[in-house]
Amino acid sequence: MFNKKTIDDIDVRGKNVVVRCDFNVPLKEGKITDDTRIVAALPTIKKLIADGGRVILCSHLGKPKGTVKEELTLAPVAQRLSELLGQDVKFAKDNEVVGENARKAAAEIKDGEVVLLENTRFRPEEEKNGEDLSKDLASLGQIFVNDAFGTAHRAHASTVGVANFVEVAVVGYLMEKEINFLGNAVDNPVRPFAAVLGGSKVSSKISVIDNLLEKVDILVIGGAMAYTFVKAAGGKVGKSLVEDEYLEYAANMVKKAADKGVKLLLPVDTVVAPEISDDAPFKTVDIMEIPDDMIGVDIGEKTIELFADALKDAKTVIWNGPMGVFETKNFAKGTEAVAKVLADLDAVTIIGGGDSAAAVNQLGFGDKMTHISTGGGASLEFLEGKGLPGVDIIAEK
Ligand code: ADP
Ligand code: MG
Repeated sequence: MFNKKTIDDIDVRGKNVVVRCDFNVPLKEGKITDDTRIVAALPTIKKLIADGGRVILCSHLGKPKGTVKEELTLAPVAQRLSELLGQDVKFAKDNEVVGENARKAAAEIKDGEVVLLENTRFRPEEEKNGEDLSKDLASLGQIFVNDAFGTAHRAHASTVGVANFVEVAVVGYLMEKEINFLGNAVDNPVRPFAAVLGGSKVSSKISVIDNLLEKVDILVIGGAMAYTFVKAAGGKVGKSLVEDEYLEYAANMVKKAADKGVKLLLPVDTVVAPEISDDAPFKTVDIMEIPDDMIGVDIGEKTIELFADALKDAKTVIWNGPMGVFETKNFAKGTEAVAKVLADLDAVTIIGGGDSAAAVNQLGFGDKMTHISTGGGASLEFLEGKGLPGVDIIAEK
């Protein structure tokens, strides 16, 4: 159970509260193209405003790597946030993040007002968890709230260091919600518990597979990852994405699943094409017989049926990794079919991983899932069973 202190456990009235949010939004020509992450931060900000806190927000945006990159200013976020909150959000524009403007704003701020600081990654100490920036941020308030689940897996000045120099550090509602959903699903699942794994590489998901294999009843593997398993089993994989260094690992995994009584399902057929493009001709072949000049790009019809049948009684499903190259319309069918299966299940359905979340939203199933994590990398590290430094630093209740 989640037992860290949250914003419900503190009194913020009249206090300056430094809140680390995840405002790392996609921008195009200075305009925000998707404000999901800003919207996700609203419950915490509104609660602090309602309780009479003096709210000082900070976040990173993009990868300026410790230098000032004007195109990565948080100014557009301040504006969007003002619109969403229906109240003024003062932007303290300091290239050094905590400079003259931020200090002045922090000194003058009144109960229920909101200030946003400049991009924390304009400072080189941010990603090094440097003490100077940690202390600068902490000097603006008495309370620190970490609500940035998307960067909770990084020990940075604004996610971890700052917590050492304030009176009290707690988590916000978004962080609490993410950890509760992911944590309960992994550690306290209603069974049968299934994991559906896909995506591009076995190598990037090894720790996820290892961790989940200890916990699930059913493990479904699709996406490009499957072809390494197919080759390990003696199948012909053509030009499919295969990691030869992981053949032995894949073979061992199959054995381990059998030993543990975990039902491991791999594709039985696959859509193949000579290249990854919407103009390419494609057909479905047996999984063990991919022609030499073809690439496996999606799971086939029989596999969709097999996976749907295996998942139909599941009560908890965690999904990470698309079933095919869903960015190409012709090869999105497998991912769409699995999304539909999950959407129709009477089960807790959790989506982790940046591309998986994008796929589910893009295919229109976003509101049919129990929880879609807002943190790509962080949700993966969580599924790997690793602690999150940005959460570990928070005191327990
Ligand atoms: P996530 O971000 O959800 O953790 P990954 O980054 O592991 O997911 O994988 C997503 C990528 O995997 C997508 O870009 C998708 O095109 C790719 N992918 C899925 N199936 C295949 C395949 N058969 N061949 C090549 N790429 C694939
Ligand atoms: Mg990805």
